[in-house]
Amino acid sequence: MSDPLSPYFLGAWAENNDLLEKVLLELVRDHVYWRRNFHPDDTPPIATTAQLDDDYRARVAGMTRELHRLTSQLKRSVPTFHPRYIGHMTSELLLPGLLAQLVTTIYNPNNIVEEVAPVTLALEYEAGQGLCRMVGFGTDSARVPCATGHLTSGGTLANDEALWLARAVKLFPLAVKDACEATKVWPDESLRGADDWALLGWPVSRCLDLARRLQRHPELQPALDDARVEALGLARFCQRHPLVADLAVLAPASAHYSWVKAMKLLGLGAAQLHLVPTLDGRVDVAAMAEALARCERARVPVLAVVGVYGSTELGAFDELDALAALRRPERSFWFHVDAAWGGYLPTVFRKPDGGLRPRAEITREFRYFPSERVYRSTAALAEADSVTVDPHKLGFTPYGAGAFLVKDRRAFDLVMQRAAYVFLDTAADDSVYRNAGRFSLEGSRPGAAAAAVALNHRVLPLDHQHFGLIIARSVRACESLYGQLPRVREALAGVARVVAPFEPDCNVVGLSFNPAGNRSLRAANAFTRALYESVAVKPKGPAQQPSAFFGTCTTLSLAQLGDAERRRLADELDLDLAQPDADGLFLLRHALMNPWLLASPEPGEGTYIDAYLAHLIALARAEARAAPRPA
Ligand SMILES: *Cc1c(COP(=O)(O)O)cnc(C)c1O
Repeated sequence: MSDPLSPYFLGAWAENNDLLEKVLLELVRDHVYWRRNFHPDDTPPIATTAQLDDDYRARVAGMTRELHRLTSQLKRSVPTFHPRYIGHMTSELLLPGLLAQLVTTIYNPNNIVEEVAPVTLALEYEAGQGLCRMVGFGTDSARVPCATGHLTSGGTLANDEALWLARAVKLFPLAVKDACEATKVWPDESLRGADDWALLGWPVSRCLDLARRLQRHPELQPALDDARVEALGLARFCQRHPLVADLAVLAPASAHYSWVKAMKLLGLGAAQLHLVPTLDGRVDVAAMAEALARCERARVPVLAVVGVYGSTELGAFDELDALAALRRPERSFWFHVDAAWGGYLPTVFRKPDGGLRPRAEITREFRYFPSERVYRSTAALAEADSVTVDPHKLGFTPYGAGAFLVKDRRAFDLVMQRAAYVFLDTAADDSVYRNAGRFSLEGSRPGAAAAAVALNHRVLPLDHQHFGLIIARSVRACESLYGQLPRVREALAGVARVVAPFEPDCNVVGLSFNPAGNRSLRAANAFTRALYESVAVKPKGPAQQPSAFFGTCTTLSLAQLGDAERRRLADELDLDLAQPDADGLFLLRHALMNPWLLASPEPGEGTYIDAYLAHLIALARAEARAAPRPA
């Protein structure tokens, strides 16, 4: 039997070129027939005789020349499709999504409203609901909560939406209380005696129940519309509710920098993002609990806590179950999980019926994976209020396809925007997806991206027998690299030390080196950086860079490390980290996504991973010979 994934990618050598060309041609022709048959009796506005004159031909030549120049320039692109590319979080694309995106672009649907995207909005809804089920959210609209998901341009926008929605929901009870006081209508008796501090601690579900209950009190609506932070702006809202000025968001130090942007964007202020230290790259849950307790003592209301399911730097997974458990009925927060990277990992854990596979069954298929912690975190994704997933990362879909998933779709009631000129406000307007532009931060959005994500999910459903096969490969490639580190260490004995600062959770590995005898962090970093230079992409380099492999790098800030971690790293690398002469540890960083990393570049020889490690060993030896020996 052939490799089950072999038809789904173009391939490093474009092995599936015939398939791509044939299907693309069919789909383009199909579009042409569609145009021809729309009003076949109309006279074509572009006269066919025009195509005969010289002027026409000259213009066509000019246009094609530009297109050929473009493709010649594009040859300087980074060959991210190839198993020799093991740098950033990008790789080969899935063919169904790529073809869907290419052909849908010709139809050019805009997923802002059904009126201009009747087909692709439904596809977006399908893709979003599929992702919701993948993370464990319920999607039965007869029940509360019922989840919904929509696509965004990327993870950054999804994170922005999470904070935007969290703010709308968590500050809502304060506005309701103001409106009740103004109108003397009290739909909820518990509001009467509650102070701002108590209201700011309400769980999300309670805020949303309140919002629904108010639908029966239209007499309150005008006062409520005026009292909300969305109407007043944060500054005026804070004059009425001084505690809100301190509104904090707690996130691990490993969180993506988009969180800082989101804080600035919402006017909450970057300083109100409290970064909690990590242990081995994962948030220190005790430190998070302590940070929450500190906020409580200081009467700092916590808007949201962010958990990371696959950190951007090293693919580390926070203990989501433990973070979710930090919510108390009287002191709760919006719990967002940033799974922009790890988002598709649950496909390895899901049965075709949507249930979670037992851990023992999964561990049989791998060497180390999944750790007890990763397993528990995956099961706990369902406890989040919202989740960010990036189909354009481990979903192997073209950019820009991010996704924002919300466990309780009622939350969108609170950010719904009315714009009569775009949106159909009919009584039948009950499905959340038809007017996406009304509640998503973005307006016009490519229907082609929705088609791409939906098609990938249709061809490879989000369970371990289908999509999970791709992710499992990526995890196995990582296990292979990590498992060979003892061998690399032996090969470099007396030359340099090498460590992976943290055991990988999934499919990202960082590696640091230290030349033998050196104790200085700065010199060790210089050594690793020299290795990086040999695998770095050179944006201004020649068209075909003669690099054997492409990788990337990052720096692990020492301030982010706990004492124990620092001691362990100092020991393993034989470095003096008590008085370090640099702020961080420089790392080679590898996102092991490509589905063919365990294929062999030469028949009968080792894998791409083996070849990469051999390359790295050779580079380290050469660098050690070239670099002056430390005194
Ligand atoms: C990539 C990433 C983001 C940002 O996503 P974009 O799609 O680049 O906007 C946010 N969070 C995490 C954890 C990521 O890995």
